[in-house]
Amino acid sequence: MKKLVVGNWKMHGSRASNAELIQGLLAADLSTTAPRADVAVCPPAVFLADVAAALQGSAIAVGVQDVSVQAQGAFTGEVAGPMVREFGATYAIVGHSERRSYHAESDQLVADKAKAALAHGLVPIVCVGETLAERESGQTEVVVGRQLDAVIATLGADVAKAVVAYEPVWAIGTGKTASPEQAQAVHAFLRARLTSAQPDAAKVPLLYGGSVKPDNAQVLFAQPDIDGGLIGGAALKAADFAAIARAA
Ligand code: PGA
Repeated sequence: MKKLVVGNWKMHGSRASNAELIQGLLAADLSTTAPRADVAVCPPAVFLADVAAALQGSAIAVGVQDVSVQAQGAFTGEVAGPMVREFGATYAIVGHSERRSYHAESDQLVADKAKAALAHGLVPIVCVGETLAERESGQTEVVVGRQLDAVIATLGADVAKAVVAYEPVWAIGTGKTASPEQAQAVHAFLRARLTSAQPDAAKVPLLYGGSVKPDNAQVLFAQPDIDGGLIGGAALKAADFAAIARAA
């Protein structure tokens, strides 16, 4: 399966630092990795127009880090799918653990956002993952299974058009990467769960996220059920992100 490497810039950057980062990414010429991997970056929504314009014609697509369930209306502070589509976004991360925990996003809301993304022509990148306490109490499959089931139930056969990112919460921004074996085990579980619900979902790209770096990307991406990565901190350094994309 073709790999997918997505940078999640989170709430970082300025117009000046973004321009520098993009210059570095363009200089790294990821077109050579294009046959093996799709590459995208997700800046804060306010920078979307700038970033999409700067990357136009390159091998790098753009996305957003969240999207409203609604298409339009009295929803102060929200940004809708059709709006970000108009500015060139093709992906939308939904259900990142930071939104689940700091913004109390429920499994159902995340599933509804995934559905809205698809309805508006965006590929949803649905994040699932357990906390350290959940892992240590043996609940990993219960938690990620529950998070995934809401998406399967809400999207139906369209789940085959989504991307799923496994991001163990304890590995995000902590420097603690899941071992390739730990990540592969959860990815195999997710693949089986998807496929038993919807046979077409066997080809849903399963990304791993959580402290992916140039020096661990290759071994993670070599696992049979790891189809790429969702990259946070390392996506803010052009050389690191390019090295991770090349590892795919
Ligand atoms: P990290 O973040 O690579 O900095 O751990 C990943 C993410 O939260 O998407």
